[in-house]
Amino acid sequence: MRWMAKKALRLALSARTSFRPSQANIRVLTYHRFGDDTDPWTISADVFEKQIAWAAKEDLFISPESVAGVLNGSAGRTSGIIVTIDDCDPSVYAVALPILRKYGVEAVLFAITDRIGSDNHMTAAQLKSSVDQGFVVGSHSRSHPHMAKLDAEQLQSEAALSRRILQDITGSPVEMFAYPYGNKQSISPETRSALEAAGYSIAFTSQMGAVTPGVDPLAVPRLNIEHGDPVWTFGALCHGHLDDWDAACRSLGLSRFQY
Ligand SMILES: [Zn+2]
Repeated sequence: MRWMAKKALRLALSARTSFRPSQANIRVLTYHRFGDDTDPWTISADVFEKQIAWAAKEDLFISPESVAGVLNGSAGRTSGIIVTIDDCDPSVYAVALPILRKYGVEAVLFAITDRIGSDNHMTAAQLKSSVDQGFVVGSHSRSHPHMAKLDAEQLQSEAALSRRILQDITGSPVEMFAYPYGNKQSISPETRSALEAAGYSIAFTSQMGAVTPGVDPLAVPRLNIEHGDPVWTFGALCHGHLDDWDAACRSLGLSRFQY
């Protein structure tokens, strides 16, 4: 029910034809799985390629490293979109990466280290190969917990150990983290401190919004791409037409965080 209400709101907002101008220019897209399932988290190869091809033609893609530059004011280019993919489902390697490579698009893949090599996660060799192909691997924790419910020792293990494991596998520094779930209940001052102590420079949430100067680098919002969104919703989202999502949800009494 709640999901349906938000879906309707999402469509209504993206269908508007006039928008307030926004200096908020970078938008970080979140994907999960790729294939023929029809759950909200799965995007078909065909739809994904249409989205990537459209955004490439619009020259919207910028490198993942641009986030830090926008936040500290040093970025040359301060508009565009970045692709992130959570959970490292095997379909990411099989379906999404070849399409991204075809269009020369970089992306960040967030791995869950306890699941590496299991049926629902990419293998260590695939993570290493992704980095060798120019993709960025970030941490999505060891076990995908609600981080804010953990004690200090568990937090340290989820944040620091997962980073070390991924650095060992890929041979590259791991600077980015994506909060499992990424909602308000997963984030706290303690989780922030743990990520900072573990050495991350950027952490993404699942709260909806654009990346603007002044946003906390350890609580960077993203935009979730869902199954069933029409092509024009994807375009509207990339161009910032859903940046008012928070305000719209609040005005309807819905949670400002994503489902
Ligand atoms: Zn996840």
